[in-house]
Amino acid sequence: MLQFVAAQAADELVLTKDQQASLVRFINGNATWTIYHEMGHAFVSLFEIPILGKEEDAVDNLATIIMLLQENEQSDEYLKETALGWFLLDEFAGLAGEELDFSDDHSLDQQRAFQTICFLYGADEAIFGEFTQMMGMPEDKLENCAADFARTQTSWDKVLAPFILKPDDKNFEVAVIYDDVPSDLIPYKASLQEAQILENIQQYIVSNYKLPKAFTLKAVACNDANAYWDAEASEVILCYELLAEFEKLFLFDIKQSIAAEKN
Ligand SMILES: [Zn+2]
Repeated sequence: MLQFVAAQAADELVLTKDQQASLVRFINGNATWTIYHEMGHAFVSLFEIPILGKEEDAVDNLATIIMLLQENEQSDEYLKETALGWFLLDEFAGLAGEELDFSDDHSLDQQRAFQTICFLYGADEAIFGEFTQMMGMPEDKLENCAADFARTQTSWDKVLAPFILKPDDKNFEVAVIYDDVPSDLIPYKASLQEAQILENIQQYIVSNYKLPKAFTLKAVACNDANAYWDAEASEVILCYELLAEFEKLFLFDIKQSIAAEKN
């Protein structure tokens, strides 16, 4: 297992083996969901999908739905990490004195967390019921989650149906590129490669959708904790710095727990 020692040393935190494993799961879960979100923007652009409402919300939903439909334990765990990630980001920003940005293209972090949780609960109450409760989802909001999830899933199925790959279709390529990184980002690159996140999403895309053109899933150092769809270059970009940001959030959570225990 990879050790993200740099940030830990700076924080004077030594993680147990279990915490180290949780950290890797947290980073991988949030990275996977983020790339599916960016792939959603790519689909909207490449397939010219009509969007009624905020595109950011629509592709948030798509990312969650795709991961839910994979129906495996790892995807389910990754989705929980994603919801947790949005809550932590909200808490972290709050403590840093950042104000909520109501003009942002994205919904607020807590809204993104609750929307994700609502879909998890709506998709499978048996698997996600306990987690939903733990995350403090208000009871009265749960009633509509199954219908909300089903309606959104059906809507995405409908708009993507014309682009589903048929047996004899030729397809364009989805390439995966890991760009070189400065030395401080090497552990993040190695971790991403080990988890095969980009390759798994590449496989998901090329085996399910008939693409109108080639595109690339690319991990790069961008000096910014970000991920985005570059329509001109036809590239989904994941910045290695975003993985470092996820690590920072996880360590923030650990430190919060330690502080709470002391009090
Ligand atoms: Zn987006």
